[in-house]
Amino acid sequence: MDKEMNGRILAVPFPSPGHINPMTQLCKRLVFKGFKATIVLTKFIAKNIKGKSDLVQIETISDGDDEFHIFARQSVPDSVVRFTKHGSESLAQLIEKYESLGDPIVCVIYDSLLPWVVEVPKKLGLISVVFFTQQSAVNFFGYYSYHKLLPNPVVQFPVSIPGLPLLYLQDIPTYGIYQDHHTLVANQFSTVDKADFAFVNTFYELEEEVLEAMSKVCQMMTVGPTIPSFYLDNRIENDKAYGLSLPQDASTWLNWLNSKSAGSVVYASLSSVGYASPNVKQMEELAYGLKGSNYNFLWVVKSFEMEKLPENFIEETSDKGLIVQWCPQLEVLSNKAVGCILSHCGWNSTIEAISLGVPIVAMPMWADQLTNAKFIQDVWKVGVRVKCDENGIAGREEIEACIREVTNGERATEINKSCAKWKTLAKEAVSEGGTSDRNINELVSKLTGSLD
Ligand code: UDP
Repeated sequence: MDKEMNGRILAVPFPSPGHINPMTQLCKRLVFKGFKATIVLTKFIAKNIKGKSDLVQIETISDGDDEFHIFARQSVPDSVVRFTKHGSESLAQLIEKYESLGDPIVCVIYDSLLPWVVEVPKKLGLISVVFFTQQSAVNFFGYYSYHKLLPNPVVQFPVSIPGLPLLYLQDIPTYGIYQDHHTLVANQFSTVDKADFAFVNTFYELEEEVLEAMSKVCQMMTVGPTIPSFYLDNRIENDKAYGLSLPQDASTWLNWLNSKSAGSVVYASLSSVGYASPNVKQMEELAYGLKGSNYNFLWVVKSFEMEKLPENFIEETSDKGLIVQWCPQLEVLSNKAVGCILSHCGWNSTIEAISLGVPIVAMPMWADQLTNAKFIQDVWKVGVRVKCDENGIAGREEIEACIREVTNGERATEINKSCAKWKTLAKEAVSEGGTSDRNINELVSKLTGSLD
């Protein structure tokens, strides 16, 4: 197929990095298949994100409050109403702008957390794709089943869903005081039937059983992992930048990692969102768990979390530890010094670690991370989940023990075997003719008119 001969795709991610990255990556795949692509950000995000991609353009729409992050000044329901109104209007104007420039939009791909977007392409007769950027098929099916029970859901434990193992209370998404977020997540399914395609960021082989069970009620197409091919097989040389990641000075962490021996570093990174950050006690236990493990550690601690670190911790551990506020996770995970990731089990981090064959110490904080942790340990067998005490805290000894379990001994050998298997299957899924590649080609065929 000739490059840039097939028209332009407009992609609307939910405005946060964990959604923007996989959406951008899907766009790049479509660019490699001959399309042009534009990522649409809110004005606030566009102003604050310094990253860019040579392969996709960036445009903005309004969420009705362009000075602050969506949800920053209003409740979730009010923000959704505001974004729906202003976003729909400005998205339609953007599509008109491209039309008048002789560069028409052929398809709109939108994040499942922004279900209102579908009305815009529908009205204009454009093809639409809903993309579950941040969700495993397992979680998709769990939430979907719950959504179907609304408005009066009755959940009995253990929960039995076709294609899934029995799920107990500790495996089920929690939202604590953030119940509005649950409504946001549950509403994702409201437009699945309206969109022409429904994509999910996973690969068929990883979730075959649940995908088969799901196919009886809802057709999802796997298109993941949405990881630059550079990290999987070096296939496309300029496919290295992940999404719109901030360009960073790599000298500190890269030199540090390169000075460590193979498998000697624990990479620790918990959520990128403030409200899911560990509390002071948990940060302390984590700090001393990392220190006590006797491994080197590279720990991502956000600027707003620094004050939760124990006093003098950075100085005390400077021989073994490096604390950074951000680092390009894919590059870190693909560095041979990294022996395991200690993760909050956000879906992107989970699928990134699985696809790059890195064992996981699962420390889920909230939402779908709990179900991901269950699968990491019991189904995919690529890691272990830390156990918490009655106050929900994972203690330092437990953290140390889990790090040792995934890096050393019999269980680590088994985990490494599973990691190697999934790594190969992830690569195959996105390679030419693989399951995810074929699904993307179905969209390509529809857009180029060879599929009705
Ligand atoms: N990430 C990164 N560097 C960091 C922290 C996070 O590149 O220092 C990326 C990570 O690779 C992933 C995303 O940010 O793609 C986080 O998404 P995830 O779904 O794992 O978690 P969230 O923070 O959205 O809950």
